[in-house]
Amino acid sequence: MNVSGKMSLYRLPPLPTIREIIQLYNLRAEKQLSQNFLLDLRLTDKIVRKAGNLKNHYACEVGPGPGGLTRAILNCGVEELLVVEKDTRFIPGLKMLNDASMGKVRIVHGDILTYRMDRAFPNHLRKAWEDDPPNVHIIGNLPFNVSTPLIVKWFEEIANRTGPFSYGRTQMTLTFQHEVAERMIAPVGNKQRSRLSIMTQYLCNVKHCFSIPGRAFVPKPEVDVGVVHFTPLIQPRIEQPFKLVEKVVQSVFHFRRKYCYRGISMLFPEVQRTKLTEQMLTLANVEPTLRPPDLSMKHFQGLCNAYSELCNKDPNLFAYNFREELRQKRLHDTPTQESDVGR
Ligand code: SAM
Repeated sequence: MNVSGKMSLYRLPPLPTIREIIQLYNLRAEKQLSQNFLLDLRLTDKIVRKAGNLKNHYACEVGPGPGGLTRAILNCGVEELLVVEKDTRFIPGLKMLNDASMGKVRIVHGDILTYRMDRAFPNHLRKAWEDDPPNVHIIGNLPFNVSTPLIVKWFEEIANRTGPFSYGRTQMTLTFQHEVAERMIAPVGNKQRSRLSIMTQYLCNVKHCFSIPGRAFVPKPEVDVGVVHFTPLIQPRIEQPFKLVEKVVQSVFHFRRKYCYRGISMLFPEVQRTKLTEQMLTLANVEPTLRPPDLSMKHFQGLCNAYSELCNKDPNLFAYNFREELRQKRLHDTPTQESDVGR
């Protein structure tokens, strides 16, 4: 059967507009679920175009809501579209799209943060990591309140080749608050350079495709939105376990405006702090007076390798967490302060 020929002719039949669907099912936007709907079909089509050729692909849409972006995805001839939506009110409208597309929509009523994507698609789609990306694509106009935890979870799954990345280097086209998108792509020395820049760029080729003004959404959010495309790298730019990279990057950026040695020193217990910080900087060949936003990916690679080496020498080191130490100190200090007040 010539599937691609058949698909290219495929368009959804005439349907009520998204505005009519919203009225029909009385779908008032819920603030707690970060609901901002995109009703402009030119914009939903543009997001889908940035995902590349989806013909015969298996796509997963996060938070389809009333289905604007869902229609645009279906119109480009996907083989199957899995939608994961937390709010039950949208399910009847999504069922209507499933009927209109002759059963192409698989509806999951659930939470994307816990949904297991490692078994979501047929096995024959799995590809070797070094191969081209598989015919699986994740798309979504993400709810703002879950977008950062969700992408960090997916970064960890990229590093471990689990979840949607057990199928290979699954690509993603997702929306974020404009400022978050800027942080993801920020190069060395940029004022948006942050933890998220390093975590994104060490694992993915990332592209900020275009921005959508807040006024394009209903209701209008306070901020503009950036559409970002991710392709996992064959070879991560830092070859250390995700948790180790996350810990080093988090410590370095803890004192964003100070010299980098300050944040790096927080990786070590007080008694060894000076000695081990010096050792780590020497091993990594990093100038202690560079500021975190001025550290390149090569610097982070050196720092993570150096920290790994120090952790190998002292297996208790990785468990050290200065935030936990600080918390314990505060807990310990409180009764003294109270008794001072009581005196
Ligand atoms: N895709 C629609 C659009 O572009 O008009 C709606 C986008 S709206 C910004 C976010 C959607 O994600 C809402 O439909 C909301 O109910 C859903 N959502 C929020 N939290 C979710 C979660 N944890 N898992 C799945 N869906 C969620």
